[in-house]
Amino acid sequence: MECATADCDREATVELHIPWDENRYVCMGHARVQSRKDGIVADPLETADDDLPDGASNHG
Ligand SMILES: [Zn+2]
Repeated sequence: MECATADCDREATVELHIPWDENRYVCMGHARVQSRKDGIVADPLETADDDLPDGASNHG
């Protein structure tokens, strides 16, 4: 699934819960930007872990 943002073709790894609109699937970068708006909640998808850089998920 691609990021829902126009002109972005990165893999969507986050679901945005938007109170005044339908939920949207976006990449991590756009989720960070858009989740700053009032009421929007960024909810990482289960597959998001695959996109994290090595060491980001504390494997020990
Ligand atoms: Zn994006």
